[in-house]
Amino acid sequence: MLDTTHQLIQRVGKRLGLNSTQIEALIKVDALHEFDIQLDGKTYKAYRAQHNNKRGPYKGGIRFHPDVDRDEVQALATLMSLKTAAVGLPLGGGKGGIAVDPKSLSNDQLEKISREYSRGLHKHIGPNKDIPAPDVNTNAQIIDWMVDEYEQLTGDATKASFTGKSLTNGGSAGREAATGRGGVIALQEYLELEGKAKQPLTIAIQGFGNVGSFFAMVAAELAPQWKIIAASDSSATVVNEDGLNVQELADHKKAKKPFSDFQDASVKDPNTIFGVEADILVLAALGDVVTEENKRDIKANILVELANGPINEAAETYLLQHKKTVLPDIIANAGGVIVSYLEWQQNLKNEIWTEEQVNKKLAQYMVPAMEAAYERAKKHNVSLKEAATMLAIERLAS
Ligand code: NAD
Repeated sequence: MLDTTHQLIQRVGKRLGLNSTQIEALIKVDALHEFDIQLDGKTYKAYRAQHNNKRGPYKGGIRFHPDVDRDEVQALATLMSLKTAAVGLPLGGGKGGIAVDPKSLSNDQLEKISREYSRGLHKHIGPNKDIPAPDVNTNAQIIDWMVDEYEQLTGDATKASFTGKSLTNGGSAGREAATGRGGVIALQEYLELEGKAKQPLTIAIQGFGNVGSFFAMVAAELAPQWKIIAASDSSATVVNEDGLNVQELADHKKAKKPFSDFQDASVKDPNTIFGVEADILVLAALGDVVTEENKRDIKANILVELANGPINEAAETYLLQHKKTVLPDIIANAGGVIVSYLEWQQNLKNEIWTEEQVNKKLAQYMVPAMEAAYERAKKHNVSLKEAATMLAIERLAS
């Protein structure tokens, strides 16, 4: 993912006429904080990459996953700088994490490791420096522990040091659904610009976690002409050509029942999701899932990147050559960081906004960002990803 991100910046930077020094400056990560966390006789590696703060404080998630490493946090921090710039937020890019499988920890250990992470980083973060948020395997409870630790160490009482907090602890209405909702808004806007807004379209979703399930539920509410015919998680793909009941599927998943037990659907291997005959494939699971090996399996003509970097460079080139459209992650999945920004604003102003207000403001960022990328792509005959990256790089380099 780090290679893919660097190649994208190099290609787009050259197209914009930047010289190699300017491109290197865009690639360079401002700081990489790395430290060990000791927990019950074991050592865990912890990281925070701060990529670029020219437009505002660093902003980005914290993930708990065994695969977290230097390259991953640097790639994701870089994507965050591009994302915040592409959607016009006055924020920079950061990303962090701990190389740990949280499922192997007790609740007490999870609290300890979260507090230790905040302790290890507290000098480098803060409401006007770097504002972390939840990401893969982290949630409002984990962030609440981190905020509490940060407050004890620094005396800060704004709650603006982290976003993604629980609602009773300064969190924002609409945050949980924001990335999925933003994905629906981005897709609706793209289809509107293509004159296909009213068309009945079929959708397959890879990854029915937080982002994928909210995408499905918000789509059912805002775009009833779309039909979700398949969804997958790491264990199975469920398919129903007549349309899945996505609310029931989300409830089923929430109740921690196996995906494969879902009624009214045929059950297949997780990777069969790529070959489902749907108009749109939503990628909401992990990075680097569409590669040289499976690029030929993709049937959908429109791919929506809700995960970060789900399509690698070579696979995207192939898909574009085959006349497929990719709605790029730095716009399509920006709903989460946009509502994080709105949460931060509420904390700094000591205000509480309704979900309706938050959703309205979310759309006010998403729609123009999608429009601008679309217009740029048409004008320069480039992909939407290159167009969005061009807009982001222009803003970062100016
Ligand atoms: P999550 O853990 O809630 O959900 C991920 C889902 O993907 C799970 O249902 C899991 O079973 C599934 N999955 C894992 N491997 C799979 C595979 N091989 N095939 C099919 N499904 C698979 O995470 P999330 O918060 O929904 O995030 C999903 C992706 O979106 C991540 O890449 C994350 O970085 C990205 N993202 C999330 C947000 C956010 O606000 N949560 C914002 C921007 C980007």
